Amino acid sequence: MRFDTRLIHGRQPPDPLTGAVNPPIYLSSTFRQLAPNRNQGYVYSRSANPTRTALENALAEIEGGRAGLAFSSGLGALATLLEAFPTGSRIVSVDDLYGGTWRLFDHHRRQFGIRIDYVDMTRLEILREVLAQGPTSLVYLETPTNPLLKLVDLAAVVRLARREGAPVAVDNTFASPANQRPIERGADIVLHSTTKYLGGHSDIIGGALVLRKAADVERFAWLQNAIGAVPSPVDAYLVLRGLHTLGVRMRAHEASARAVVEVVAGHRKVRAFHYPGHPSHPQYSLARRQMDGYGGIVSVEVAGGRAAALRFLRGLKLFTLAESLGGVESLAEHPASMTHASVPREQREAHGVTEGLLRLSCGIEDPADLADDVRRALGRI
Ligand SMILES: *Cc1c(COP(=O)(O)O)cnc(C)c1O
Repeated sequence: MRFDTRLIHGRQPPDPLTGAVNPPIYLSSTFRQLAPNRNQGYVYSRSANPTRTALENALAEIEGGRAGLAFSSGLGALATLLEAFPTGSRIVSVDDLYGGTWRLFDHHRRQFGIRIDYVDMTRLEILREVLAQGPTSLVYLETPTNPLLKLVDLAAVVRLARREGAPVAVDNTFASPANQRPIERGADIVLHSTTKYLGGHSDIIGGALVLRKAADVERFAWLQNAIGAVPSPVDAYLVLRGLHTLGVRMRAHEASARAVVEVVAGHRKVRAFHYPGHPSHPQYSLARRQMDGYGGIVSVEVAGGRAAALRFLRGLKLFTLAESLGGVESLAEHPASMTHASVPREQREAHGVTEGLLRLSCGIEDPADLADDVRRALGRI
């Protein structure tokens, strides 16, 4: 089966009891036991719930992993992942991170004595040096990064990490499995905020881990149950429902992003823009090698700093000013004061998250309307 077919049929047979083509939403916290500890596969919905199982199977299938685990949020998935790393562990992380991920890493650093080394992973020679400095418990990265859409060469990082015996975890939220499947490149763990493209409709908060190795499946399924940051069956169903249209949605998101890129490229109020699917992106050839598509996120740095950025945001009519991304509706945000406000200012600016930077999540409205909206807002600067 090809990808779009797997989204709908991969490990998603009709309900064996009724033939329903979609899994029922099993709103039951507990399940009858036939005798103490003799059950029909389900005991208590924190441990496992049939609707969640349907989602977890689909997630494993589309990311090419052994098993998927669903969580109540992306950060719930990350917190569960981090629980596996005791005091003294060292995580080597990409330096351009989702703000909430940075915040939780920093909490673990201060509270539990985890060492986190941040590396610009676009520079593999630096990564090699940092990895050589000592044992590494985990290599953690995002690609494309948020919000600057820098790319990390997955296969190259996996090669370097393997040489040091370090597992690799990839936050695949931005690309989505429609455009990039890290496990196929050798990654061990994929993390998602299903809140974004996988759910796709801005109506739930959710997260996921997809695992390649049997030992990780056992370890993280245990932690998932022990910690309990699991989604409700309704939320699990909504993510599964979103997954079915991921392929068509990602193509539509990309068409919108391309229309917006055409407006911002060369516009006199635009200092820089970032889109991995445009030949001006410094890693365009890596993008073509590693990704099947480039998604709906475009970052734009307007000339005139914060004041110009805020004027631009006020000029938008179709893009809603809101955090988050990956939904059918277009959203715009100002990373320096919103999603990345928890990252210290010097660190933010050093990584290019300037006061004039805006992140646009292009939805699936008519691309021409979105292009008009951005053109009009640039005119307000
Ligand atoms: C949103 C996001 C998260 C956090 O997920 P939540 O569902 O908001 O907890 C993690 N990583 C990336 C790249 C995100 O965009």
